[in-house]
Amino acid sequence: MNQIYLDNHATTQLDPRVLEAMLPYLKEKFGNASSIDHNYGNESAQAVKKAREQIASLINAKDPEDIIFTSGATESDNLAILGIARAMKKKGNHIITTQIEHKAVLESCHKLETEGFEITFLPVDRNGRINLNELKKSIKKETILITIIAANNEVGTIQELKEIGEIARINNVIFHTDAAQAFGHINLDVRDMKTDLISISSHKIYGPKGVGALYVNQENLSIKIEPLFYGGGQEMGYRSGTLNTPGIVGLGKAAEIAKKEMIETQKRLSNLRDKLCIGLKKEIEVEINGESPKRLAHNLNLYFPGIEAKALINEAKGVAMSAGSACTSKEVKPSHVLTAMGFDNDRIHSSIRLGLGRFTTEEEIRLAIKEIVRAAIKLKSI
Ligand SMILES: *Cc1c(COP(=O)(O)O)cnc(C)c1O
Repeated sequence: MNQIYLDNHATTQLDPRVLEAMLPYLKEKFGNASSIDHNYGNESAQAVKKAREQIASLINAKDPEDIIFTSGATESDNLAILGIARAMKKKGNHIITTQIEHKAVLESCHKLETEGFEITFLPVDRNGRINLNELKKSIKKETILITIIAANNEVGTIQELKEIGEIARINNVIFHTDAAQAFGHINLDVRDMKTDLISISSHKIYGPKGVGALYVNQENLSIKIEPLFYGGGQEMGYRSGTLNTPGIVGLGKAAEIAKKEMIETQKRLSNLRDKLCIGLKKEIEVEINGESPKRLAHNLNLYFPGIEAKALINEAKGVAMSAGSACTSKEVKPSHVLTAMGFDNDRIHSSIRLGLGRFTTEEEIRLAIKEIVRAAIKLKSI
């Protein structure tokens, strides 16, 4: 069945231009990027270098060598959080994060609690935003790291990254942000935002799965990171293991395309997103969860009063959408993000996340409205 894909926060379709760029590195250009004594290795090393530049350019990083390739944002989050904590525990044992992080951050922090670290999980308001004064007040002399999600994967809320960076810098605390949903979707400038570490995922920006990066501001000499893996010392020792050249080339190409098309795509998708919302509101009762003035243009998290989210997803078979985040949607546990925003379980179990993407068309939005309205009316009548 040809479903309309509206689950772009879970993952995105590989852009054909990205596939095209990757193909030679899956075929004849198979060299190991570390084996630079011959053409095969050199060719791969050059390709990896170009990808570093493409990614650095998208976030305005000074030095392409600040980009460390990983297997995805989960690994980048683990490397940043566990790595900083374990390397810097002599300096302090306190970390500040939020209640609306991705599990990759939350579970890394919970792991650190078992290693003697104290974690502050900042609350958020009804729109999913942290309070900057609360952040300031929670900083202590033992605080070594602030890790705050850039754009939330369920409700699309964008935090005040520049202000957070400022607070971290003034207090001499390292600032990490999980930008899996933000990188390539909104403008991120590491110099302007004073970010020390950024987690990046390829498959959220139309690149291949299983590859990502961690930006490390190596100008900030206070940063120390204990690696997760030991071996050949690739990626300046931060991440041993033979580089995934095809994946890295794909991520680089995806970043290059995002840089060129970001503003136009944002405009087009926020327009389509609003059309979707207005179209549904005309026919059925819906409310937006998290209407932050600053949120991702392609995100729409909706509450359907009196309708079970799972039932709606099953009934509206023509549309691929998700209840809560993909990683937790198998569990019956209500979304920790919507809970932190102050919504009750009834509302959470009646809420659906819609994520538009680069390949979403106007026609698809028209059809998606029809399908969701049909399903909602049918479920209401039972
Ligand atoms: C998808 C996602 C991750 C995990 O990224 P992977 O590359 O799939 O490991 C982490 N954080 C956020 C906010 C995400 O959306």
